[in-house]
Amino acid sequence: MTVAPIPDCRSPITRSPDPPILGLYVHVPFCSAICNYCNFNRGLFDADLKTRYVDALVAEIQQAGLTASARATAVKKACATRDGVCDETCVAQPFRAAVAADTIFFGGGTPSLLEPDEIARIIAACDASFDIAADREVTLEANPETVTEARLAAFRSAGINRLSFGVQSFRDEELRRLSRLHSADRARAALAEARAAGFDNVSLDLMMWLPEQRVTEWLASVDAAIALAPEHLSLYLLEVYPNAPLKEDMARARWSQAPDDDAAAMYLTAMDRLEAAGYRQYEISNVATPGRQSRHNLKYWTDGEWLGFGCGAHSTGCGVRWKNVSSTQEYVDRIARGQTVIVDEHRMTSDERLGDALFTGLRLADGIDLAAIDARYGVDVWCRYGAGLEPFLEQGCLRREGSRLWLTRPGMLLAHEVMTVFV
Ligand code: SF4
Repeated sequence: MTVAPIPDCRSPITRSPDPPILGLYVHVPFCSAICNYCNFNRGLFDADLKTRYVDALVAEIQQAGLTASARATAVKKACATRDGVCDETCVAQPFRAAVAADTIFFGGGTPSLLEPDEIARIIAACDASFDIAADREVTLEANPETVTEARLAAFRSAGINRLSFGVQSFRDEELRRLSRLHSADRARAALAEARAAGFDNVSLDLMMWLPEQRVTEWLASVDAAIALAPEHLSLYLLEVYPNAPLKEDMARARWSQAPDDDAAAMYLTAMDRLEAAGYRQYEISNVATPGRQSRHNLKYWTDGEWLGFGCGAHSTGCGVRWKNVSSTQEYVDRIARGQTVIVDEHRMTSDERLGDALFTGLRLADGIDLAAIDARYGVDVWCRYGAGLEPFLEQGCLRREGSRLWLTRPGMLLAHEVMTVFV
């Protein structure tokens, strides 16, 4: 018996010495009430803690800016000695860092519980510490019950130019089952207030496969969203976590989720309707009108780099991932004591970085460019993973044309299975 030789799937790497343009993520962990399905890093609003938290955020951003500047200078010096060519052995690699950024994203929690002057202070700290592009995208996640037209206008004056409303449903009974504080009418009013305040870039989050929700009810929410003409929509499948209070609520009230086939129909039909209404799906869960994709979130899916500030925030840069301490109180205390807030740091192997790039890139409707992956990681993806991916091509879950590989829409429903090939 002859054994086929293991193909050598590696090739030389040529990398640009230019550091990537960063995204800045600012975590705001406060909420007016805790929703029964939520597993984010959040807690109940506490005015005193919030004030100290904003001070801590500003301090962390300033410190990160100083570190990034020092690293960027070191990289410049090191790269000058290598004609600007970096590879895995490049001495500059561990110090590769950026100070340029073009997006700021306030996520939570409920960032719209901060006061506009607090948001302005945080943006000013970002501006003072990083080189942020003039055509920046600055997003604020907002819950409909926390805003008024005047408050939104003040956020806009503070520097916010994109809003992302957590609407979840346009049916009041569904919102009540999720223990959300707003009504469908309040969500509609929030969008009208955003327009009146001058926002021309607004996203709505909707959730499907809610307890007792059937396909027609879900589509009613999709149609209600389309009628409001937001520039962007994110559609998520509800995941009921084992220890979520919603699980108990469902058992007590005998609420159930529709069968799996209905969940698939919800997803596919919604995407068809949105496309017919002029939206383009650009990621598994996201659609946008032309030019209105989330520039910040695209960094997560296009192998970009970002810095996260605040409790529980994650960062990725220079092939290193790190995470801040999750507890809000401990985060504030550590900053006050001048201690690091980083509790977990991991230098990724090149295979881990490749795996990340493939996992996240395949979430995009345009998929991944195998030639670009080869140039960046020195790996011929088809040579290494082709045998595992072929069955998905045959089933119509994946398509490959030239150097591009992408999930078809039905394939997006099986994304996790396809991605296990890369593990
Ligand atoms: S508002 Fe958002 S972050 Fe806060 S508890 Fe509800 S789902 Fe979680």
